[in-house]
Amino acid sequence: MSVKILLVEDEEKLARFVELELLHEGYEVTKSGNGREALELAVQGSFDLILLDIMLPGLNGLEVLRRLQKEKDVPVILLTARDAVMDKVAGLDAGAVDYITKPFAIEELLARIRVALKLHAAAAQPAQDTSRQEGVLTWGELCLDEPKHRVTFANHEIALTNREFLMLKTLLENQDIVLSRDTLLDRVCGYDFAGETNIVDVYIRYLRSKIDDVFGVKMIHTIRGVGYVIKSETGS
Ligand code: CA
Repeated sequence: MSVKILLVEDEEKLARFVELELLHEGYEVTKSGNGREALELAVQGSFDLILLDIMLPGLNGLEVLRRLQKEKDVPVILLTARDAVMDKVAGLDAGAVDYITKPFAIEELLARIRVALKLHAAAAQPAQDTSRQEGVLTWGELCLDEPKHRVTFANHEIALTNREFLMLKTLLENQDIVLSRDTLLDRVCGYDFAGETNIVDVYIRYLRSKIDDVFGVKMIHTIRGVGYVIKSETGS
């Protein structure tokens, strides 16, 4: 799986130049020239790193950064104008891992990207080492950490709602056991829930769109007329 970078820069020429260099390095690149659109892409997508200009139409880079920090754990490198010292300070305070001043040498940017990715992967490592601990359920590269209320796939954080989390936990605890819609509904919504069992199908669809579709795996199987099951990974 290639490394995905979101490049947020409204100066079209610079954006195109950086994009070509990143593609040449083998990164997968998504480009945006608008702060509001970039925030949406960043929250919805699963990027490994974000390059973020500060002066942007729609929503400025610092605001994008602040809002993004509440949603996602993704390293952000700011692209700042020369002498914008306050922007740099504010950016680091808001959670950026690094910044680079324009105009920059592309080699320097590439070096900083490599460092940021390496540091981020190292920071995520301890979570992986706890995979045998109590309260941690795994399926292949998927890891559900109940105490931390955190789900990751190959170290990529997956944002789930409480009910999606409960649904996934129930399925992971019962690998190879087909669970009926009624059982799942009870576990996820409580016994006194008055809704329809097809709400289960909705949550299953959400889980698949956040896990199966994004990471190209077939985790949750539908057993027609019965319910759903996660089959244990052979060899794990
Ligand atoms: Ca700009």
